[in-house]
Amino acid sequence: MVLGAGLAGLGFARHCPGARVFEAEAAPGGYARSHEFAGAWFDQGAHICHSQDEDWLSLVCAAGPLHEMPKSVVLNHKAGHWFAYPVQNHLADLPPDQRDAALKDFLSAQEQYRGREPLNYEEWCRFQYGDYLLENFYRLYTAKYWHVPMAELATDWLGGRLLPSQVENILAGAKGHQEEMQAVFRTFRYPRQGGFEALIAPLYREADIRLNRRAVAVDAARRRVTFQDGAVEEYDALVSTIPLPALAGMIPDAPADVREAAGRLRALQHYCVNFVVDRENLSAANWFYVYDPDIAVSRVSFPFSLSGERNGRTAIQAEIFVPGDARPDETALREQAVADLGRLLKFSASEVAAAEICAYPMSYVVSDLARAAAVRHVRDWLRGRGIETAGLFGNWEYVWSDRAFAGGRALAEAKGREAGSS
Ligand SMILES: Cc1cc2nc3c(=O)[nH]c(=O)nc-3n(C[C@H](O)[C@H](O)[C@H](O)COP(=O)(O)OP(=O)(O)OC[C@H]3O[C@@H](n4cnc5c(N)ncnc54)[C@H](O)[C@@H]3O)c2cc1C
Repeated sequence: MVLGAGLAGLGFARHCPGARVFEAEAAPGGYARSHEFAGAWFDQGAHICHSQDEDWLSLVCAAGPLHEMPKSVVLNHKAGHWFAYPVQNHLADLPPDQRDAALKDFLSAQEQYRGREPLNYEEWCRFQYGDYLLENFYRLYTAKYWHVPMAELATDWLGGRLLPSQVENILAGAKGHQEEMQAVFRTFRYPRQGGFEALIAPLYREADIRLNRRAVAVDAARRRVTFQDGAVEEYDALVSTIPLPALAGMIPDAPADVREAAGRLRALQHYCVNFVVDRENLSAANWFYVYDPDIAVSRVSFPFSLSGERNGRTAIQAEIFVPGDARPDETALREQAVADLGRLLKFSASEVAAAEICAYPMSYVVSDLARAAAVRHVRDWLRGRGIETAGLFGNWEYVWSDRAFAGGRALAEAKGREAGSS
């Protein structure tokens, strides 16, 4: 039995014939779902396929026509200036005094911290980029995105996102604009229709998915799961891809230390303000990041530019991340986001065809210094009770979609080997 029909659950089901997948929502897909609004497809936050995993690509690229971007166009905005992403590789885009200060601090950090192991994200940025970029860019962005002091963040989440500095690239980028983008998403693919979910929708057909089945209690001793509708299902083996703290909370005999470790796990809440403006080409970017502390929006993407559609309009998704316990006024958040982007992208309120705000109560997991040990503690205990976990929230560790699917597949393959050898 699998809990959750997101990519990790689908990865398990595809490689474990006969597995039953119980999904709380009325539709499968989890965080990789998309929906249509005002004639545009919006994802749950910008999703692109930049995978290099050949197995994954051969599975999802057959789903339908794709828009292939050989070179992503990614920008940053701060205080009225636009500059290419990532800032350290494009110092020539900054005003000269800022460029010189950033370069000086970068070079002195290369000397001063050579060979030193950073203990946290703040040190990582200082050692890699120097104090100027740390204070004027990375600390500002961390405050509005992660809502956690940099010194409390670990560095284990960086692998898939920020790349370590390369001196030659940074020096070249300070001399003049360079075309090469040093980022994990240099190129990407995106469905021409249907949003990111169109890539994975064919996977739904091959799994035995039971929708509207929210697990509420797990009896690990008797191998039974109780669902919100009161039904009880028995299992031989249980794979959970639902949020790890929720799972720990569903097992009545979970000891205090396990509950306490699960209680230490933090995630952000995520709001997407989706809207369409009756004008084309409001930006050259596929997406951009906003460093300004007085603007709540952190990331802005352009769904028509991702899918390669041209129709005289611009679809915009503005993402806002807030701490797990924040309760913002959603109407005010939506209106402010549209107004702020009107100033940045120079459109007027009368050109906005329609706007919505979507709330996702659990988004990026916060990789603070407590996370890895707490996750290990909870998962070890669960494993001792015969419960395996997989995926973004199941393992409480950021993974891209291809890795979420591969995590589910790896568990199914391990179970297959176990069954074969017993
Ligand atoms: C903001 C954001 C942007 C991202 N951008 C990209 C990107 O650009 N490219 C990329 O490749 N990846 C991206 N990802 C990552 C990708 O979305 C995830 O890796 C993937 O969707 C996770 O799949 P999952 O199955 O692990 O989790 P989920 O998709 O969360 O699946 C878990 C499922 O469990 C269900 N569930 C929860 N509780 C219960 C319960 N009690 N009973 C039964 N079912 C339950 C949920 O409804 C859900 O369907 C992004 C992620 C985020 C958060």
